Amino acid sequence: MTSGKTKVVMDGNITPWEDATIHVASTGAKYGANVFEGICCYYGDRQYLFRLREHLERLHESMDLMRLPQQYSDEEFEYSIWQVLKANSIEGDAHIRLSIIVRGEGLYDVSGPLVLVCTATPRSAGPLAGGTVNIGISSWRRIDDAAMPPRIKAGANYHNGRFALMDAKRHGYDEALLLNSRGLVSESTNSCFMMVRRGALVTPPASAGILDSITRDTFLKIAGEELGLPVEVREIDRAETAIAAEAFLCNSFQEVRPIRSIDGIKLKQTAPGPITNRLWSAYEDIARGRKSKYREWLAYSRDSAQ
Ligand code: PMP
Repeated sequence: MTSGKTKVVMDGNITPWEDATIHVASTGAKYGANVFEGICCYYGDRQYLFRLREHLERLHESMDLMRLPQQYSDEEFEYSIWQVLKANSIEGDAHIRLSIIVRGEGLYDVSGPLVLVCTATPRSAGPLAGGTVNIGISSWRRIDDAAMPPRIKAGANYHNGRFALMDAKRHGYDEALLLNSRGLVSESTNSCFMMVRRGALVTPPASAGILDSITRDTFLKIAGEELGLPVEVREIDRAETAIAAEAFLCNSFQEVRPIRSIDGIKLKQTAPGPITNRLWSAYEDIARGRKSKYREWLAYSRDSAQ
């Protein structure tokens, strides 16, 4: 999305794509000092922002941990989102990125001034839009809380994912699964890992070096409440992943990517497996406002134009 017509919202100003820039000398550009969220907008009977509250909560947490001043309110964040959708005439599904970038100059400990940037990309996601994947266990380890906390969404954390993804592709895989510093399963380069093992949905705990994922939380709730599945949040050994019945990667943007094989070992069920399909279809119903029980997860614009 680089057309001359695309608009970006920067600190509340609708800005042409070409003019949405920060200086090369900024701490954001030089050292990757930024935090962000990727949020999906789903069209049901109107546009819904899925789990906006939780995304904004995590954004504030990322800012706290990065010691950035909390100068933006939730109302400003939400307003920027509706503003960017409207400015780009997006009326259907979209992926939104809200970023806070240090545009101040200096060393890597500079914390301001900040700029709030919001972009929106239309998406035509069908079910399981991310496709199925063959993944490999990375020889790179997931960053550790003792050095660079993975549970927040800071741009610089993605250098770890960059190493692992480039290496995975070099070895012919679609994606990487990283182990943490203790040698236990952590997560993928941009997604959490979930598997079905002996009828239960299993995923590593937040302390395994993962981003505190909102999609993971959604699937854990759906599995228990909608499918009546046992849910296990526990440590996972590397070897256990390849003997799972089903497994998938999940994140807000690609939602579900069913895994076909791990380290070249085919999983028992052809991807997507039956439980993955049921989880996904409940997810989509909820995100498009078709299940009233989960309406509190959906934000919509009060503006009648939306
Ligand atoms: N782990 C990493 C490293 C990610 O980048 C993402 C995507 N934000 C996730 C997990 C999934 O997080 P969420 O479900 O909140 O999108």
